[in-house]
Amino acid sequence: MPSRSIASPASSLEHLRTVLLVEDNAGDALLVRQMLGEAWVSSFELVHVDSLHRAQEHLSAHPASCVLLDLGLPDATGVDVVARVRERAPETPIIVLTGLDDEELALEALQQGAQDYLTKNHLDSRLLARAVRYAMERKKLEQEIAFQALHDPLTGLANRPLLLEDLASALRRSRRSGQRVALFFVDLDRFKSINDTYGHAAGDLVLSATARRLRDAVRPGDTVARLGGDEFAIVCDGIPDEAVAATIAARVGECLSQPVTVAGRRFSPRASVGIALGSAAVDPDALLRDADAALYRAKELGRGRVEMYDEQLRRRLHETKRIEAELSDAVRDESFVLHYQPQVDVASGAVVGYEALVRWAHPERGLLAPAEFLAVAEDDGCIHALGTWVFREACAQAARWSAAVPERRPHVAVNLSPAQLHDRSLAAAAEAAVRAAGVAPSSLCVEVTEAALASDGDAAADVLASLKDVGVRVAIDHFGAGYSSIAQLRRLPLDVLKVDRSFVPGDGNGAERVAAAVVDLAHSLHMRALIEGVETDAQWDAVRATGCDEAQGFLLGRPAPASAIDPAAPGRRGRRADA
Ligand code: C2E
Ligand code: CA
Ligand code: CA
Repeated sequence: MPSRSIASPASSLEHLRTVLLVEDNAGDALLVRQMLGEAWVSSFELVHVDSLHRAQEHLSAHPASCVLLDLGLPDATGVDVVARVRERAPETPIIVLTGLDDEELALEALQQGAQDYLTKNHLDSRLLARAVRYAMERKKLEQEIAFQALHDPLTGLANRPLLLEDLASALRRSRRSGQRVALFFVDLDRFKSINDTYGHAAGDLVLSATARRLRDAVRPGDTVARLGGDEFAIVCDGIPDEAVAATIAARVGECLSQPVTVAGRRFSPRASVGIALGSAAVDPDALLRDADAALYRAKELGRGRVEMYDEQLRRRLHETKRIEAELSDAVRDESFVLHYQPQVDVASGAVVGYEALVRWAHPERGLLAPAEFLAVAEDDGCIHALGTWVFREACAQAARWSAAVPERRPHVAVNLSPAQLHDRSLAAAAEAAVRAAGVAPSSLCVEVTEAALASDGDAAADVLASLKDVGVRVAIDHFGAGYSSIAQLRRLPLDVLKVDRSFVPGDGNGAERVAAAVVDLAHSLHMRALIEGVETDAQWDAVRATGCDEAQGFLLGRPAPASAIDPAAPGRRGRRADA
């Protein structure tokens, strides 16, 4: 059972018609009976008992509309009596009756949860009848307020405070039972798009349907809560092992995926579920964190997944935390190096520029590839400081190279993360780097992916426009792997189109025609085309046949530190050499 059973306002007391009088003085009891009889003839039935013990017994078996409670009983006295009656019947209003006109006692009784206080020698039938009515109304209101404070208004499910309370008491109970408590975090997939496409009313219907289904999927005593938005949580106790928890999660996912019809449309909602199992030793907040982490992981792995918080996930999160902690120091201390990969002019075979690729020079683990830390840098925001450093370092290197080979002045290409495209000060950082190095702004090219542009087109387009104003060139990276429209390509100020590695021609799989078409597309939009991922001679031959301008790949040069690169070295055999 939940720790705190608060009836919903719907379970009103209206149909209960009993007033329970707890009074050991037969004369007083008779008086009350007469008064009530005069007031409402037959609408209520009066039941009289003469001790706390009997009152408790009676209330356990028969709910009452109201209790009239004398505080001087043979087996208990004082305001304590109020507390003991409430324990047994928390939903029943209580009116205290005493012989004394004692303000202090009255106040204490109210603090103990009584709804009213009457002095027997000032009593008359109208006053008593009215007090009973008021007490019932008052109790109903109190219950409504208590309910609202702990429930979500839309779905009627528990809210976060009630969830926490129920979770804490479930964990306490598990100490005795020796079994575990499962906490499920449930998140509807793509709920936001339902809301955006069909409106909030449709969204609310989906949420209400979800709430009903979650309730039906678990036992009545389990707590089902809405944590806000499309996030729900369930607490189940008495869970013997992980397999049982997984079965419940599967059932939850199953019943949520049944189609629901909203505004004449059928939706089959899918949900991601994160599970954490806890026992008495676990603190509720920690369990919430674990379930949240498991849910995060489930969503990361793809929609409609169930993930359990376990040792492996713990280690993974620990690793992320460690990287997070070390990364901000690394950014402060600039513990990074850039490797450079040549970009080759296809016609002449000469190197025209270098793509800068960042590595973390980790004190214990050596050089770390971007895949190991970029996601963390983006999540915690240090990507911006890192990006500024990359700009400065790459431009400084471009300056060294142009001094070494002034007739060529190779450019540097710098990758941007999606988050950087939302940074309005990005152009200023690029400009500062170019100025400090004393190179032409066109020596710097930024590479942005289609996905980054698609996520928030307008804001990103503004940032790109200000980069163009500074004179920096812009390349679209991994073209073909995403879904940018030609209209979008025309709208954006792009200089170079980098064809995604998956289209590299030369393996006899028909990629030639696709690559050639993309190169043509680039040219018709007045962009230069670059094919990346050239690894073999066959691919290089095919690339030269496409008419593309530049190429890049392991065959033409692997990423290497600047110290290992000779900018004056002659390039590869280009297209012209064949002619
Ligand atoms: P990217 O933009 O696709 O960069 C090219 C990646 O492909 C590099 O991996 C490079 O080593 C690899 N590569 C180059 N030629 C070939 C080839 O012929 N075959 C194959 N299979 N791979 C090739 P790397 O250095 O691990 O970089 C991974 C990603 O990290 C980059 O992908 C880029 O998106 C990101 N990145 C690198 N440096 C930075 C940076 O300074 N800032 C930001 N925001 N992202 C960066
Ligand atoms: Ca008495
Ligand atoms: Ca790139």
